[in-house]
Amino acid sequence: MKSYLSSKVEQLKPSGIRRFFDLANSLEGVISLGVGEPDFITPWSICQASIKSIKNGFTSNTEMEGQAELRQEISYYMKSRFQVSYSPSTEIIVTIGGSQALDVSLRTILNPGDEVLIIEPSYVAYGALVSLAGGKPVPIVTSFQNEFKPIPEQIKQSISPRTKAIILCFPNNPTGTLLKKHELEAIADIILENDLLVITDEIYAELTYEEGAFCSIASLKGMRERTILVSGFSKGFAMTGWRLGYICAPEYLTQPMLEIIQHTTLGTSSITQYGAIEALRNGQRYIVEMRNSYRERRNFLVKQLNEMGLHCHLPEGAFYVFPSVRQTGLTSEQFAEKLLTQHKIAVVPGNAFGDSGEGYVRCSYATSMEKLNEAMKRMRQFVETL
Ligand code: PLP
Repeated sequence: MKSYLSSKVEQLKPSGIRRFFDLANSLEGVISLGVGEPDFITPWSICQASIKSIKNGFTSNTEMEGQAELRQEISYYMKSRFQVSYSPSTEIIVTIGGSQALDVSLRTILNPGDEVLIIEPSYVAYGALVSLAGGKPVPIVTSFQNEFKPIPEQIKQSISPRTKAIILCFPNNPTGTLLKKHELEAIADIILENDLLVITDEIYAELTYEEGAFCSIASLKGMRERTILVSGFSKGFAMTGWRLGYICAPEYLTQPMLEIIQHTTLGTSSITQYGAIEALRNGQRYIVEMRNSYRERRNFLVKQLNEMGLHCHLPEGAFYVFPSVRQTGLTSEQFAEKLLTQHKIAVVPGNAFGDSGEGYVRCSYATSMEKLNEAMKRMRQFVETL
């Protein structure tokens, strides 16, 4: 029988994370360091704002680009927290999670065969989204020795006449790496010299552990006009299930993006947008509490992993540690599979994030100290047997 599937879909690789979690879910008593979701539930005042909107009957479609009040709050927030200015009326679009923001951005800018540079190891969806949009993902491999930071020379060498854009994600999933302002400036120079666009995925910006260390590439000289800034509520505000994100970009890009939204999703849920307004107006204190808790867990995990010989850097952001498992003599998948089946700890094999992730595993610390403690005990036992 002929295949009825699109070749773009057929070429998608199954997610290494999903395969692993199917296995983890089939076992009992597993402690998961696998998920990329906050273990906190959404702060109650945010939930209340959405409940109130339902009670008041605010249940109709909003503007496609999101409610004006929410876009205004996003604009204030981005200016006060990250020193970037976007007009609420023309340069901000509310999306279904950071995921839709990435999808719409790529579909807006790519023609068939256009190349997009992706810093690896990378968030699993980037390559797939580029391919679905007709583009070609071009990996830029980083290394443990260089703290998983891209080397400017390497970026230059990866640029071809077909290169359209580069995707940046710092703080990074899966490594937790953050780029400093001068490191972003070096990349910005290359972007300007080669007339590229940049999609900067700043979904973990609030989870930067040193106050003031985060810098948005959009704030650098000459970059605003060529930057698509993607962010959302999932991580910092613990709102994954609300499916709410946003795009900040110049009008020449947002208006075509709205054409796609008009013919696909027509915008996002009105109800969740009310919660998001409350999150931006009064949510900073919750972020501070959650960030402090993540910092404490990060410090614990990094110390434990290094002590047991699984070397890792101190990640400056997000909620992941990316230790090396090379010294155990196992591949990432073998390590993760044995750890899961023998000691009931789920971590994600590093090769799920690209070939350059081989030899590492991703451990998420978006889980309680109690569970982390137990997980580290079991992991130590496992490593001692190797
Ligand atoms: N970008 C990165 C780097 C992520 O890690 C994730 C989720 O894990 C997303 C985007 C998608 O976020 P959302 O849940 O808002 O769609």
